[in-house]
Amino acid sequence: MMALKHPKFRVFTVLFCVISITTFLFSYNYRAPSSYFYKLASRLSDNPVSKATCACSRCISAEDEDPWFSERFNQSMSPLMSKKNSMLSADTYKWWQWIQSEKHPANYSDVVRRLFQVIPGEERYMDSGPNRCRTCSVVGNSGNLKGSNYGALIDASDFIIRMNKAPTSGYEKDVGRRTTHHVMYPESAKNLQNTTNLVLIPFKTLDLQWIISALTTGTIKHTYLPVMAKIKANKNKVLIYSPTFFKYIFESWLEGHGRYPSTGFLALMLAIHICDEVNVYGFGADKAGNWHHYWENNLLGGAFRHTGVHDGDYEYNITLLLASKKKIKMFKGR
Ligand code: C5P
Repeated sequence: MMALKHPKFRVFTVLFCVISITTFLFSYNYRAPSSYFYKLASRLSDNPVSKATCACSRCISAEDEDPWFSERFNQSMSPLMSKKNSMLSADTYKWWQWIQSEKHPANYSDVVRRLFQVIPGEERYMDSGPNRCRTCSVVGNSGNLKGSNYGALIDASDFIIRMNKAPTSGYEKDVGRRTTHHVMYPESAKNLQNTTNLVLIPFKTLDLQWIISALTTGTIKHTYLPVMAKIKANKNKVLIYSPTFFKYIFESWLEGHGRYPSTGFLALMLAIHICDEVNVYGFGADKAGNWHHYWENNLLGGAFRHTGVHDGDYEYNITLLLASKKKIKMFKGR
């Protein structure tokens, strides 16, 4: 008791307590000690931090007051086909067969069984949670990427999703050089690097047969167009877009507009469901309302065309809405 009255001892005791508490809080939280109190307070109160659904500064799945997004977004839907979810409901199968009106489809279950003997069949990316921050760049093929200088920004994401014929070689400054996922279908296929995931969008049973063939025997050379008989891609990195998810996008997000969604919209929706933060590049028609490509000479007229079976305007408006509601960030290029 006498020692406590001594001023030097009192200062020492206070300092000792402060250092002990601070060390404890640091080791508990790894960050600033104040964030411990912040998190604790947010758990106890109704602070928005307690609702953080991911570890990024923005989270796609974060709840907002406006119900527009949550009325459409179903996080439990798996965008990719796995052994477990590959069977389709009668309704889904019917719709899926209708989109490209396949005349004499092979037995779906047999094809899927063979498919998963060639590629992995585990569930992927369904790991969202408060500790995950997965950033993604979705790169469409629009000519608005020309001269944009977005390359470094695009490459800074965890996932870089490109599609169809998209080249990077020679366009790195504007579109970047990394590709973690390349979305395609048989008629738009291209060879990939060993590190890139091939994401196949199947529009018919024959497309599933094609990927089996293109990775093995090379016997399928024609669908409704000539297709690549063999593809250079890592078999262990081939992923299949789920027809069930495809139908969900068409119904919940496009509300039946167009015959079916475009590759770009499907790629964007893949990102929205597997990423926490999504940046979008290379989307948007030219001034005349036609789609154009960054690698084509648009002035020569070759790339000018309408959006065919897709409702390009409706898709683009949904994309703009997602941006205005801060679910994605859009980079509109030049
Ligand atoms: O032309 P392609 O289908 O290969 O383009 C891939 C995607 O990029 C499209 O599905 C579309 O969503 C997007 N795109 C676009 N504006 C363009 C060209 C492509 O939004 N001018």
